[in-house]
Amino acid sequence: AAADHSPAVIIGTGYGAAVTALRLGAAGVPTVMLEMGKLWNDPAEDGTTFSDMLSPDRRSTWFKDRTEAPLASFLWLDVANHDIDPYAGVLDRVSFGDMSVYVGRGVGGGSLVNGAMAVIPKRSYFEEILPRVDADEMYGQYFPLANSMLGTNHVDPEWFETSRAYRFARVSRKAAHRAGFRTTFVPSVYDFDYMRREEAELVPRSALASEVVYGNNHGKRSLDKSYLAAAVGTGNVTIRTLSEVRDITRQQDGTYVLEVRRIDELGNVLGVHQMSAKHLFLGAGSLGSTELLVRARDTGKLPELGEAVGRGWGTNGNVMLGRANHAWDPVGPLESGMPALGIDAWDRPDPVFAEIAPVPAGLETWASLYLAITRNPERGTFRYDPGADRAVLQWDVDQGQPSIDAAKRVFDRINSVEGTSYRYDLFGDTRAFETRFTYHPLGGLVLGEATDLYGRVAGYDNLYVTDGSLIPGSTGVNPFVTITALAERNIARILAEDVRRT
Ligand code: FAD
Repeated sequence: AAADHSPAVIIGTGYGAAVTALRLGAAGVPTVMLEMGKLWNDPAEDGTTFSDMLSPDRRSTWFKDRTEAPLASFLWLDVANHDIDPYAGVLDRVSFGDMSVYVGRGVGGGSLVNGAMAVIPKRSYFEEILPRVDADEMYGQYFPLANSMLGTNHVDPEWFETSRAYRFARVSRKAAHRAGFRTTFVPSVYDFDYMRREEAELVPRSALASEVVYGNNHGKRSLDKSYLAAAVGTGNVTIRTLSEVRDITRQQDGTYVLEVRRIDELGNVLGVHQMSAKHLFLGAGSLGSTELLVRARDTGKLPELGEAVGRGWGTNGNVMLGRANHAWDPVGPLESGMPALGIDAWDRPDPVFAEIAPVPAGLETWASLYLAITRNPERGTFRYDPGADRAVLQWDVDQGQPSIDAAKRVFDRINSVEGTSYRYDLFGDTRAFETRFTYHPLGGLVLGEATDLYGRVAGYDNLYVTDGSLIPGSTGVNPFVTITALAERNIARILAEDVRRT
């Protein structure tokens, strides 16, 4: 083993990784987490840790010289994006030709940048996507555990009706209901009591100050405040930041050896060193974990990895669209960055769950924005590109079409009842539906295919997948509660059967 050894190493600090760290730490297993991003706990001179969406600075973006916001334009104007200095910022957009994937970078992974919506999938759909996982156990035990650990809470419906910051959601709800669609409140890990005090101007604003995709300075229970705090609190877990795992090999005796590249916040390489582990857990997210194993297989370092590695990747059917509201239906200049309502049209033959998303622009936009989750059956595959030493996603633009078709049926009806139309000015050109990016990358190391039914990688002992790459491309709702609950289920089994016995 290398000089630097730990019984357990976890790559990444997102949902799957954080759950695994807490449970290993609580069981007394010394555990090191390796995270390529930084720890977000050091306020800048202005007192803030993160930058907002209206004036993003270098903290917003992972090593780019310009921000890459999801809404590329407004009235076709390039107003959303700003030139910045390259830095270890919190949001990354990883591009593969026709598909770009947004991911969080830093201690807490996606929890730092996401919309905090904590949604449990419809049970019938969960049983369809993961038929060999015991649904009674998930719905009776692990989903409730995940929600309580994550700190999920619910908006007070009375306050919602009066909040200026949710006028945008009420306007969208009215249109949905008139077209015969149902809406539902969406649970959140953003503290709604805090938000209520933000509106009353009793505390510094965050969700009500256009903060979301570049991080929230207040109010959000990101993983660093929940699972990771508890994990470090066991005394057995340490987190090493700005430490990217590049390569995984295995010694004759079964020990895993990692090549770890350390950088500073400006991207200067401080050094490359080796670290070894008996038990290795991949929690680097769908892109990160899949890349590590595709690379390990195709460079011959873990040659027993099979064909299932790199397959079964999907976008959770993500499609974004905007509608133009009537002049007599303003949404107001103040929009909470945290969604609280969704259109639930999942019972249709062509299911759609559309979160009513804010456009926190700080001015009246006359727009209703939606991130629709659809049941898109298309899947992508990752292949190793030796020239770039990178796993490249095979996905072409036509594969987004089923998402567009499903969303169009719902929103055409809303537009026709309302006499409204789509917005054609939001995505950089004149398209109404954006499927060239996803917030919900899932799959690549699918449970029961690349791994056994608990995330043990096929072909290798003591090597585990814990994150969104286990889920076969779709959950039908926002995915982090599913990722969390599945990780809880898997690590319980692994602790009982694999780790404690050694
Ligand atoms: P991640 O959270 O992606 O964590 C992976 C971590 O590993 C990252 O910190 C990364 O930096 C690190 N890493 C990667 N590669 C390496 C490496 N080689 N070495 C070291 N570290 C590495 N989901 C919801 O349920 N509700 C929402 O409201 C919601 N909104 C979203 C909004 C946005 C803008 C985005 C981008 C996502 C949103 N999501 C939402 C999706 C959700 O955040 C992800 O599904 C979730 O974070 C995935 O968890 P994970 O454990 O798979 O990995």
